This record gives sequence, structure tokens and C-alpha cells, in this order.
Amino acid sequence: MKPPEVDRIAGSRAAVAARRARAEVKRQIGSGERLAVEVLDAADADHPAESSLRVSELIGSIPWLGPTRTQRVMEELAISSSKRVGGLGAHQRVRLREFLLRRQGGSVAEPLEPGRLVVLAGPTAVGKGTVAAQIREHHPDVLLSVSATTRSPRPGEIEGVTYYFVTDAEFDRMIEKKEFLEWATVHNCHRYGTPRTPIEKALRAGRSVLLEIDLQGARQVRDAFPEARLVFLAPPTWDELVRRLVGRGTEDEEERTRRLATARVELAAQDEFDFTVVNADVQTAAREVVELMSVATP
Ligand code: 5GP
Repeated sequence: MKPPEVDRIAGSRAAVAARRARAEVKRQIGSGERLAVEVLDAADADHPAESSLRVSELIGSIPWLGPTRTQRVMEELAISSSKRVGGLGAHQRVRLREFLLRRQGGSVAEPLEPGRLVVLAGPTAVGKGTVAAQIREHHPDVLLSVSATTRSPRPGEIEGVTYYFVTDAEFDRMIEKKEFLEWATVHNCHRYGTPRTPIEKALRAGRSVLLEIDLQGARQVRDAFPEARLVFLAPPTWDELVRRLVGRGTEDEEERTRRLATARVELAAQDEFDFTVVNADVQTAAREVVELMSVATP
């Protein structure tokens, strides 16, 4: 069935406007007013021109890339020629972003900026896990380190995603083989450790890494990587922290008391950190942590 004449006219007007908006984005990239990576980062539902741009157009607008190289880059990144920026899969996005960052600066060969190591610590139940999950979902370019732990999985936790759940003997073996960047016994109970290799690899590739670990671990990382950025996630108030701890309901009375005691000590350690982010609202806290990955050293 043919659409009514008036709809067709409105539709073609909208299409022309959209094409013009995309052409403007390409012009901005070509003239150097905007970096291609900024366009990639802006592509969401609120920015239709950016998100409806084809990836090949995004890459092809970079001044020093002709059509042949653009095609080769697309093949190397395993992105089909019809793909639009807003339709990229999480892994494709990461690959494209890494490529654009590597090439940033046009024909001038810029040194590769090493990735930033950020440690997110703070008292128990302050919401580190939730903030980290938010970052994982919205910033696939940031590597979220997966720790090994000797504690048992809670319902819903996934091996290799939440943690690597290992036995005491395996943990001992990992310590012996120096596989950990840091490790600690948390709440006087189970052991947790950060596997070294994935982090070093990511940092070398220019990717930022986020560690969500306890205070003892944060101190060890600071000693091993003085350039690491330590972020303290604070509760809005102590009462709120207690409410969150009790509200979670995953620990028994004895465990809760132990965790509250740890939290009190952890809260007092705030001054050792480079930055404090107050977790009043998860989205805002996650955004602030991500912003801290790019701000200049204080
Ligand atoms: P949960 O058992 O609730 O998942 O975590 C308990 C605590 O262990 C949290 O404070 C968390 O930040 C900390 N933790 C998780 N992974 C590591 C790690 O690899 N190293 C250290 N030092 N602490 C960790």
C-alpha cells in the first residue's frame, strides 16, 4: 500500500535532513574539528547523525585514510561495510575505539598513550560492585579485572565473569607462581587476588583497567604501580552504609558484624586515596569514576 502523499513528503524531508546532518559530521571529522573517536563516543539515541553514520564513512572521513585503506581497516576490525556506528556490537566498538585512539592525531605519529590503571575501593556494601557493573555495561573499552577468590559463588554469580572461584590449593599455587598483582584475605575470611597478566596486557595496549578491590589490595597496587589512580567510593552517610549492608541480606549476623567492623576501618582510610566519589546514585558515580580515568594527574 502506498503511504499518503503528505507522509511521503515529510519522510523524504526527514531523510534529506538526516543526510545533511551526517555530511556535517563527516565534514567536522575531515576538517579536524572533531576526532573520529569523539563521534564514536557520542553515537547514541540522542545523537542520530552520529549513530546512523556508517562505520566506513566514519573511518573514511579521517583525512589521511583513502577508500582502499578504509576497506582494509574495516576488514581488520571485522566490521561489515554496511554497519552503522550505533549498531556496533560491544567487541566491535572496543576494537574500533582502540584503532581510532591509536591513529588519533592524523598523519602525525603520536606515541601510544599507555592505559590508565584505576583502583576502586571503599567500605563494604558501599556499592563498588554495582558501580563497576554499570561501567562494564556502558564502557566496554574499560577492562574490568576479574579476581580469583576462595569464597563460594553466591546465587547469580558467574565463573569467569564475577570471579574465578578457586580452591585454597589453587590460590596457593597462583601465589607461588606470582600470578597475582596483589592479593589479600578480606574480612579475615576468604582470599581474593587480582590476576596480573590480563591487566599488564591491557595497559600495554593502551586500554584503561579498573580494579574493584579492598583497601589492603589498593595499597599493594599503589606500591607496585605508583601511577595508579586510587578512587575511594564513599557512602553518602554512615547510616546509609549500615542500611545497605543490612538490606543486602546475603550475610548472616556474624558475617554482618565482621563486615561492619571492616567498613569502619576502611572508611577511615579515605585520606590515602587520590579521589573520593560519593555513591549517592550509581549512574553519576560510575560516570565520575570513568571521568577520572582521563583527567590529568592531580
Ligand atoms: P565479595 O565477597 O562481597 O564479592 O567481596 C568482598 C570484598 O573483596 C570486596 O570489598 C571486594 O572489593 C574485595 N575484593 C574483590 N576482589 C578482590 C581482589 O582481587 N583483591 C582484593 N584485595 N580484594 C578484592
